[in-house]
Amino acid sequence: MRRKIIAGNWKMNCAPTQAAELIIGLKDRVAGAACDVVFCVPAVDLLLAAELLKDTNVRVGAQNMHFEDSGAYTGEISAAMIKETGAEYVIIGHSERRQYFAETDETVNKKALKAIERGLTPIICVGESKDQREQGITFDLVRMQTRIALLGIGAEDAAKVVIAYEPIWAIGTGKVATPEQGQDVCKAIRGVVGEIYGEKTADAIRVQYGGSVNAANAAGIFAMPDIDGALVGGASTKPEFAEIVSAAEK
Ligand code: PEP
Repeated sequence: MRRKIIAGNWKMNCAPTQAAELIIGLKDRVAGAACDVVFCVPAVDLLLAAELLKDTNVRVGAQNMHFEDSGAYTGEISAAMIKETGAEYVIIGHSERRQYFAETDETVNKKALKAIERGLTPIICVGESKDQREQGITFDLVRMQTRIALLGIGAEDAAKVVIAYEPIWAIGTGKVATPEQGQDVCKAIRGVVGEIYGEKTADAIRVQYGGSVNAANAAGIFAMPDIDGALVGGASTKPEFAEIVSAAEK
């Protein structure tokens, strides 16, 4: 049985004062959740979030990192820096980073390798655009994104990675994929993992769905056998996030 994981992607929202308020408001509401809960906060909130969530069931994640350890990369943060804040997860290859910041499958792979090397759990995002879905290439594309992201990662580490299937057309649009659409792609992702590493790793790896998840649609999505939780954007900075976490418990 895989334990579900609900991660909130706060995106570029909540400066430290607001972040503290949100964390204090949410942490008791998700205490005792039967799933893993992660708040992926802006880099400037990492230390504060880790401190405020220290003795709770909520883990902290970053939203991006560089694949080098250090050097002349102005504005970037490394995996080791993230780790030292107390954070344990990092989102890699979110479609907004692919779209606006030239993230590629190759940099996603380099970042995933470095995150693992430095003891962080990567939440690797894959997913197709509306055009790609209409062109009928969703499965080929997502399978390829998954394969490239996992290049060079051993089976034991791959089992601990989280993959988030996030159809781009569903992110921030209110157009959620149907539970069946999510299930079909998450199952295909698990299938690729099985082809690379075998059944044991495929059974262990957690595959989330992300894209307009809210309190009303979460339970239907979580009922799907290959969907192990959600990466939540817009609803993650609202009290509604606690309801999404509860939906994973039923
Ligand atoms: C996301 O940012 O990963 C996301 C899924 O956003 P939203 O839930 O707002 O669609």
